[in-house]
Amino acid sequence: MVYDVTMLKAFYAAYKGKIEHVRAVLQRPLTLAEKILYTHLYDEKGVKNYKRGEDYVNFRPDRVAMQDATAQMALLQFMNAGREQAAVPSTVHCDHLIQAYKGAREDIATATKTNEEVYDFLRDVSSRYGIGFWQPGAGIIHQVVLENYAFPGGMMVGTDSHTPNAGGLGMVAIGVGGADAVDVMTGMEWELKMPRLIGVHLKGELSGWAAPKDVILKLAGILTVKGGTNAIIEYFGSGTASLSATGKATICNMGAEVGATTSLFPYDDRMATYLKATGREEVAGMADSVAGDLRADADIMLAPENYYDRVIEIDLSRLEPYINGPFTPDAATPISEFAEKVLANGYPRKMEVGLIGSCTNSSYQDLSRAVSLARQVEKKHLKVAAPLIVNPGSERIRATAERDGMIETFEKVGATIMANACGPCIGQWKRETDDPTRKNSIVTSFNRNFAKRADGNPNTYAFVASPELTMALTIAGDLCFNPLTDALVNCKGEKVKLSEPVGEELPPKGFAEGSEGYMAPGCEKMEITVNPHSQRLQLLKPFPAWEGTDLLNMPLLIKAQGKCTTDHISMAGPWLRFRGHLENISDNMLMGAVNAFNGETNSVWNRSTNTYGPVSGTAKMYKSEGISSIVVAEENYGEGSSREHAAMEPRFLNVRVILAKSFARIHETNLKKQGMLALTFVDKADYDKIQEHDLISVIGLTEFAPGRNLKVVLHHEDGTKESFEAQHTYNELQISWFRAGSALNAR
Ligand code: SF4
Repeated sequence: MVYDVTMLKAFYAAYKGKIEHVRAVLQRPLTLAEKILYTHLYDEKGVKNYKRGEDYVNFRPDRVAMQDATAQMALLQFMNAGREQAAVPSTVHCDHLIQAYKGAREDIATATKTNEEVYDFLRDVSSRYGIGFWQPGAGIIHQVVLENYAFPGGMMVGTDSHTPNAGGLGMVAIGVGGADAVDVMTGMEWELKMPRLIGVHLKGELSGWAAPKDVILKLAGILTVKGGTNAIIEYFGSGTASLSATGKATICNMGAEVGATTSLFPYDDRMATYLKATGREEVAGMADSVAGDLRADADIMLAPENYYDRVIEIDLSRLEPYINGPFTPDAATPISEFAEKVLANGYPRKMEVGLIGSCTNSSYQDLSRAVSLARQVEKKHLKVAAPLIVNPGSERIRATAERDGMIETFEKVGATIMANACGPCIGQWKRETDDPTRKNSIVTSFNRNFAKRADGNPNTYAFVASPELTMALTIAGDLCFNPLTDALVNCKGEKVKLSEPVGEELPPKGFAEGSEGYMAPGCEKMEITVNPHSQRLQLLKPFPAWEGTDLLNMPLLIKAQGKCTTDHISMAGPWLRFRGHLENISDNMLMGAVNAFNGETNSVWNRSTNTYGPVSGTAKMYKSEGISSIVVAEENYGEGSSREHAAMEPRFLNVRVILAKSFARIHETNLKKQGMLALTFVDKADYDKIQEHDLISVIGLTEFAPGRNLKVVLHHEDGTKESFEAQHTYNELQISWFRAGSALNAR
């Protein structure tokens, strides 16, 4: 057993009383999200009607989870916090740094060697500070959390944007930057703007080819990548009980793709069954005892529009399988219309690789449904047209799939079984292609499909679908294939159709071994040392405090055009190895962002040399000259992951301001925590006024206050000036972070 049963007993013993108190103060029916949020207020006595989307509230989450790429920076910050031990149960998961190449065994051996210094650091710091440590190959953070730690009614933060996966077990699980995780691990209040609530009413039941993944793929099309910003998506209605706990987790996982703070399902028998199947019968019993308060109040179901800020209805019985992409997860297309879209847009029709698994879709149900299609290959005398890669989510699921013959079936159709790790989902894929300049299509059952995300190649068109649809398209090797209606021609020249996928929700023989690779928290008082010459790790130095004046005449570093995700700001793939070394990783800063003035990436005008050069090199030169700079961007800047490197790198390189049309939630918080100014245009058309050679001033900082706009002055090269207002969402506390130079400095 790896979870903390004493903590859970105390939690459930107190839960009902806390809910009664909240109800008594608020005097109205409560949604599930509200129940969980209000029972996790830092100050239990501070219950009042907080304004959604406006009020900042302090919470006390129950747990923290960190993946290896973000844990390095989180733990480096935690070490500076002066605590002896993590204040809440916390875990580190080694999943991001394993490159997928030859297969699990060889890849883990390689990763263990190449990342030895980082793994040793994470293991030692975990042991020193009482943090659970999951070794490389043990599994992907969210799958391991779902199998071991998530519990209905709980609240956790994780240094990864897909932390909401735990909503599949009725937990409010929120992706954050490392500095936020440090707040929770030090026992301090953790601040979040009270989220708005989007209610998604599920009715009916899935059948045939439709999978839980299709619910969120469809919803992504409705909400778009920004539609869930500062909101919790709460699912309700009879359809919720028709979905397995792991199916619910898939849906919650991908709520990150619409920018949602988190996503959440009500507690039900399917969750109880999953808890029991994963060795947590006791947790299921405790949750059963408060089951009535692990869902929204009955009155809310009668008129949900009165309680949620927005209500969306999805009829599962009529849901078609979807394929989303390329390049953005909200480009949603039902399978019946997809072939037409492929042809109309000239997407490369040949399907070159299918990828199944990741934290999003590697449950027993997912694998068994995909396997049911793989089994038809031999039976129907088919050939598999494209290579297949499978990334199991955890050692428990891999061992179970092996015992039950699924791995063998996948291998029979040519699959490479990669490590229980992120691999191709985060650019850790050593893909071998004949010509990387050739446009090519891949289909994955992962969650994200930004350009270069899987293999670092901008010519790869990545589409996201359910595991079963990914498998079917892999067999066909053709993006225009619709398995619901189309036939394939087999080796005998016969036309055959794939039968609908079938699968088991949970392994009939129970799960095989599950907790290999886990090291329980230690607390040995060992000294943590970092080699000052290390290329992988670097101790942090505090950022300088605000100088007390307005920021004047900053050169424009880059005016980014179009999508600028955290992948564009701080690329993953080969750069993952520098996630513990701020100076080295800063060399990748904004290298994926498109310069609005020349349409190129990583090529910006350097006013000191009057030449074009890389973004980070230019910022570095300005920094060496004591010059601060500013970045301008468009909508949803910082969309994607929780990596705070995307905020720390510009901060390290003396970029002081990000002025955007809008921000993604986690990234905006990360910028604030690192002492940056995150400003938005009051009038988005002002973006167009910014010229390449401008010097830009931000005025009003000596009176910086919540709700008070700042003034931006553009000094154009021809001597003319223009000014406009910029707004911000800083509260008093966040302003104190800016003044101190960072949230850590302000402690
Ligand atoms: Fe890993 Fe991909 Fe899941 Fe992120 S989304 S945790 S990279 S598998």
